[in-house]
Formats: sequence, C-alpha cells, structure tokens
Amino acid sequence: MESLVAKKLRVEWGNKPCSHTKIEKEYYGDTHTLDYVCLQCGKEFNVLEMLETRDNLRKRKKQSTQVA
Ligand SMILES: [Zn+2]
Repeated sequence: MESLVAKKLRVEWGNKPCSHTKIEKEYYGDTHTLDYVCLQCGKEFNVLEMLETRDNLRKRKKQSTQVA
C-alpha cells in the first residue's frame, strides 16, 4: 500500500480498535519503505512489529480453534 493512502486511512480510522489482520508492505511510489501497514486502519509497523503482530494473530487463531 502507498504510504499516502495509509496516512489517509489512519485519519479516517481514528482511534477505533483494530486487530490488524491484514498487513501489507508500505510503498512510497515504487519503493518499499521497509515498513508495513495495516490495510484496515493504516497503522504502520516495522518488520519486528509486523512479525510480532502476525505471530499474536496466529496464536489467537490457534486458541480459538482449540476451543471449538
Ligand atoms: Zn489495523
């Protein structure tokens, strides 16, 4: 996603909670900024934060499937 689009998303999303289920590479023009953004709320993540968030989501999913 373009960093400018992400910025716009962040403004529109405001302070609502988001579980950041879809994270994509962030681009400025054709260049990867090395950051990642949530497609829903536009929050920026660095690589470590992105991996951590994905990991947490995976754990949460695993727990819910165990319950069900
Ligand atoms: Zn999000």
